Amino acid sequence: MLNLMVYLCRMIEEVLKGWLPSGLAIAGIMWFVFALILGLAILVPLLIGILVWRDAERRGLNRVWALAAALIPNFLGLIAYLIVASQHKPKIQCPECNNSVERDANNCFMCGHSFVLASCPKCNKAVSPEWKVCPACGQQLE
Ligand SMILES: [Zn+2]
Ligand SMILES: [Zn+2]
Repeated sequence: MLNLMVYLCRMIEEVLKGWLPSGLAIAGIMWFVFALILGLAILVPLLIGILVWRDAERRGLNRVWALAAALIPNFLGLIAYLIVASQHKPKIQCPECNNSVERDANNCFMCGHSFVLASCPKCNKAVSPEWKVCPACGQQLE
């Protein structure tokens, strides 16, 4: 009986030895972790840079300035950019001349295209100048 116990303990020991990482495996894991950290250190700013670049383009901001600010360490520039960007509304494109116009502009300053919403003569709901029929009440528009 005792012999069996000792035999079992030796077996468990053998199995554990096989599973425990050797010095080589530990070095491999350390390299992997190091590569992972290095990869993240490059990938994260790259990702932020791409996102900021596109966002600045959409908002009509200076992209190079936005990119430079976003890559300041400790995300201070990114926070500053987000504050500035939140005050810049995305621009809209004029359907007639493709000019970029502020979203809350009433007219395109290049061709005079009107963005103002008219109102339905029947139900007074806001309608677009291009619409033929009021979507709310079905009234024929001009
Ligand atoms: Zn226009
Ligand atoms: Zn209507």
